[in-house]
Amino acid sequence: MREPAIATTDVTTDLAFQRCLNPDCGSTHGCDEVLTECPKCGSLLDVQYDWDRLKPPKSLTWFEQKWSRRFEPLSFSGVWRFHELLPFAKPEQVVTIGEGQTLLQHAPAVAKFVGLRGAKLYLQYEGMNPSGSFKDNGMSAAFTHAHSIGATRAACASTGNTSASLAAYCSVSKLMKAVIFIGSGKISYGKLSQALDYGALTVQIAGDFDDAMQRVREVSKELGIYLVNSVNPFRLEGQKTIMLRVLEALRWQTPDWIVVPGGNLGNSSAFGKAFMELKQLGLIDRVPRLAIINAAGSNTLYQLYEKRGLRWNGGRPDLSIADNYMAELDAAKKRASTIASAIEINRPVNLTKCLRALEFCDGVVRETTDQEILDAKAQVGAGGLGCEPASAASVAGARQLVQEGVIGPDESVVCILTGHQLKDPDATVGYHTTDQEMFNKILGSRGVKRAAYANRAVAVNNNLEEIVRAIQLYS
Ligand SMILES: *Cc1c(COP(=O)(O)O)cnc(C)c1O
Ligand SMILES: [Zn+2]
Repeated sequence: MREPAIATTDVTTDLAFQRCLNPDCGSTHGCDEVLTECPKCGSLLDVQYDWDRLKPPKSLTWFEQKWSRRFEPLSFSGVWRFHELLPFAKPEQVVTIGEGQTLLQHAPAVAKFVGLRGAKLYLQYEGMNPSGSFKDNGMSAAFTHAHSIGATRAACASTGNTSASLAAYCSVSKLMKAVIFIGSGKISYGKLSQALDYGALTVQIAGDFDDAMQRVREVSKELGIYLVNSVNPFRLEGQKTIMLRVLEALRWQTPDWIVVPGGNLGNSSAFGKAFMELKQLGLIDRVPRLAIINAAGSNTLYQLYEKRGLRWNGGRPDLSIADNYMAELDAAKKRASTIASAIEINRPVNLTKCLRALEFCDGVVRETTDQEILDAKAQVGAGGLGCEPASAASVAGARQLVQEGVIGPDESVVCILTGHQLKDPDATVGYHTTDQEMFNKILGSRGVKRAAYANRAVAVNNNLEEIVRAIQLYS
């Protein structure tokens, strides 16, 4: 085998380290430490690099040489072909299962729905990942880190996709045992089926995601199990590459907008970090604006950022605003509730990191109802390759921002479709069904009143004449 073409310099872990996000603390830690918060002050951690010594490529076009080396697993991976921009592990430590083979689809039909006259709407299909969601980008990075420090068990709390992804990395690599925590009745069967099929130990907690998240942190601390939720800073390193692939597909031109659903806010935080680093390294000269879309039934970021004025504030956000809000939620016994189960989260763990991304990318936050999400999802299905409900929040949010005039009709917009259409078939069939009882059961309870873009099945008797008549009538 030839020398791998992945390193411009000797990539070693010494040149990468973890650093506390809080500027009043700023403690640093080696990459061999397993941390999900700063041991000194409890803030989130970032993976940082000594770029002066690493000497990353001087131009993004440099990465194109990897396309001809797809026979090498690290060049094949849509995450690791950008290894020079996440050089925390040595090439031989990397665990890849072929993540990041995704598509940026130009979607003029969906652009029309969104109201983009210039038709510059692109859908970034992260559902094409091995486990069917963007989570594989981050999991490959966290798993690589876990393996490099010798972990044998990895855990996560999940609304479904993180667990599916972790379970897949464990089953393919056979390097670790997966332990997953899910809330009861809160996970779609498409996602649960993956965790079970891939052989993960699945712990179903009587509670919701926020409960499961709290428990998994306690349990992993007590048992020394490696935690792969997005409080893990290495996860976000992998998720940065979603933006690199978007730029790659646009021939390294920065779009005007990136629109992404917001749940635990790992993805939006990672996107912000990607653009901060690309700008710092002189690899881009323009930064896109970021729009993060909450579901109205779990709209913490929207409330805090748009309604209560919480800002990054140079790394010193007034977190009493967030604490007060959470206390109000608890007092009112308010739980997250939306058909978009992947973003059904009231206590986003990456809140402060996300505020930094919003600051750097001149961001906005919006909320969308389940009705708007499902209408947008139907339009994505009819004019693109389909997605799960949470993903469609990005398209519904883009539409809202165009209507408000925040996004101009001729601007270029990239919506991140975070998960595959088949993850949650109940939501899709529930929307398109002719069975009113089923519609009410799945969607009516969520305040969804109509299915304006439904493509209903046509019921006919088992009779040739009737079948022929129906096809002539409807086609
Ligand atoms: C995890 C997930 C999200 C939310 O992403 P965060 O990084 O938690 O904000 C959105 N959509 C899908 C399909 C997901 O799996
Ligand atoms: Zn600290």
